[in-house]
Amino acid sequence: MTGLRELYQETILDHYKRPRNFRQMPDANRQVEGYNPLCGDRVTVYLKLENGVIQDVSFVGQGCAISTASASLMTEALKGKTEAEAEELFRRFHNLVAGGAGVESEEGDLGKLAVFAGVREFPARVKCASLAWHTLHAALKGDLRKVSTE
Ligand code: ZN
Repeated sequence: MTGLRELYQETILDHYKRPRNFRQMPDANRQVEGYNPLCGDRVTVYLKLENGVIQDVSFVGQGCAISTASASLMTEALKGKTEAEAEELFRRFHNLVAGGAGVESEEGDLGKLAVFAGVREFPARVKCASLAWHTLHAALKGDLRKVSTE
């Protein structure tokens, strides 16, 4: 189990140091800012939605390793997904980190996102891991307001 944990940490560190899809998107048709006052994490999620499909997704912001890696891995997981698939992923990711019922059986097919399962043991970190996802959720719903985890 130790080896697996180290691998997980390696993935989070890698995405923290070299976040994927870390850029503004001038032609995005959805853009929402998220803020986690508990830790000071800030993220802006950009979406280009066409016919209900996420053609492009990116983010900018400043935050801790967990929040940055989570946003980076999220953007990788979302490209080409439909809005419904993205909402489903949001629901499952939230279950994963918040420790809802049926979590163990869901981890298997979350792919790389499963690295955040360990966050469950650190309640203060759950908001870091889920900030980008809550922001995405608001963007999918068409909210252009700012999102706060508090
Ligand atoms: Zn944080």
